[in-house]
Amino acid sequence: MKIAVIGTGYVGLVSGVCFSDFGHDVVCVDKDPSKIAKLEAGEVPIYEPGLEELMAKNVEAGRLTFTMNLAEAIDGADAVFIAVGTPTRRGDGHADLTYVMAVAEEIALAAKHYTVIVTKSTVPVGTNRQVKQVVRKANPDLDFDVASNPEFLREGAAIDDFMRPDRVVVGVQSERAGDIMNDVYRPLFLRDFPVVITDLESAEMIKYAANAFLATKITFINEIAALCERTGADIKQVSKGMGLDGRIGNKFLHAGPGYGGSCFPKDTKALARIGQEHAVPMQITEAVIKVNDEVKRRMVDKLLELCDDSFNGKTVAVLGVTFKPNTDDMRDAPSLTIIPALVGGGAKVRVVDPQGKHEGEALLPGVKWMDDPYKAARNADLVVVLTEWNEFRGLDLSQIAEHMVTPRMADLRNIYSNKDAKRAGFDSYVSIGRAPYE
Ligand code: NAD
Repeated sequence: MKIAVIGTGYVGLVSGVCFSDFGHDVVCVDKDPSKIAKLEAGEVPIYEPGLEELMAKNVEAGRLTFTMNLAEAIDGADAVFIAVGTPTRRGDGHADLTYVMAVAEEIALAAKHYTVIVTKSTVPVGTNRQVKQVVRKANPDLDFDVASNPEFLREGAAIDDFMRPDRVVVGVQSERAGDIMNDVYRPLFLRDFPVVITDLESAEMIKYAANAFLATKITFINEIAALCERTGADIKQVSKGMGLDGRIGNKFLHAGPGYGGSCFPKDTKALARIGQEHAVPMQITEAVIKVNDEVKRRMVDKLLELCDDSFNGKTVAVLGVTFKPNTDDMRDAPSLTIIPALVGGGAKVRVVDPQGKHEGEALLPGVKWMDDPYKAARNADLVVVLTEWNEFRGLDLSQIAEHMVTPRMADLRNIYSNKDAKRAGFDSYVSIGRAPYE
């Protein structure tokens, strides 16, 4: 079958590449000329493990192409996927649907035959019906269906998540559209990955409910971690003891500096907004948003305490700036709250991140980018672990401590322990949800 994917970001590009690997003919479209130029040259504009190789394989096989020309791309397509951004709208927390609706109209004006217009972007309940209206208004004679197919992949593990999903969710209104979606995902259905076929609204709701639930789980454990710090309990042991309960599960139960990234912050805000619009306040989600902001601020207080209540003149080495490892995505990363507080307080900040510099340079003015954690920590007053990249998990802590002015560490991902820090000669070591170093 022939598929067009509009938007070649983290979701659109991964989906397009994986669909082509299923054996479909795929054209990926973007309006950003620099992205299309890179893709045509065989370069992946984002960092996602394994993507470049899989893309090259399918381009080579003649199943995957890239273009800026949407009309050409959707000509003959059985399904057209909308995978553009839905960022938080300024001012009210609502998802900004400008890009989705612009693409819907563009598809309507260019389409010449029956097609299924599939929304892969995360969109509020009711959006697919709006897409339908927009298309009908722009091209009243067009024979088409809409479908909702939210995406659950995680950056950093996107290909595996797409190829081996916990489930595929498809919201449709007609059997004809259902059959086409079935053909799109046939390689997965044949391998027995569960598929949830629903109406449009339920599919849209599943995505927000799932993300808000995961954000709640993270925030819950972060709040318990704060209580552990005051009571002598150890959050790692608490998480383990909780997570072994099959009803709870051990995923998303790691305490840290607050959730960030391109999805949880914006999707929790959008769900809260949807609740307000329907006079059903999402009180739990609203509390999660507030507590998560407080968690990030609490991290700054922790660092301040380690710096004897003043950042002024201190040299701080920060390990990791992306919102999680194995991605270059900086959207809403905790580093964007914490590092400006350090710089604003007068600290000299050195930053090391395996992939974050490209995106991070413009977002984090006033920091010095370095490649080597050992060099960054040399003559520093404080080392902060902010993202748990594998590169930072097995550092020779003695070597780091030995060359610092004051050997102090804030480990905001709990990748080390009091024992590790003590053995290495650190004066102070602060982590999350564990008794401070004595
Ligand atoms: P992104 O910002 O990385 O990519 C969006 C792309 O769409 C950009 O390349 C942009 O140039 C392109 N675009 C915008 N308007 C266009 C137009 N009119 N024509 C062609 N291209 C256009 O976004 P993303 O992170 O891939 O997210 C896309 C959607 O998927 C969002 O709704 C997001 O919530 C959802 N989602 C994201 C993730 C994730 O991990 N990033 C996971 C699940 C769902």
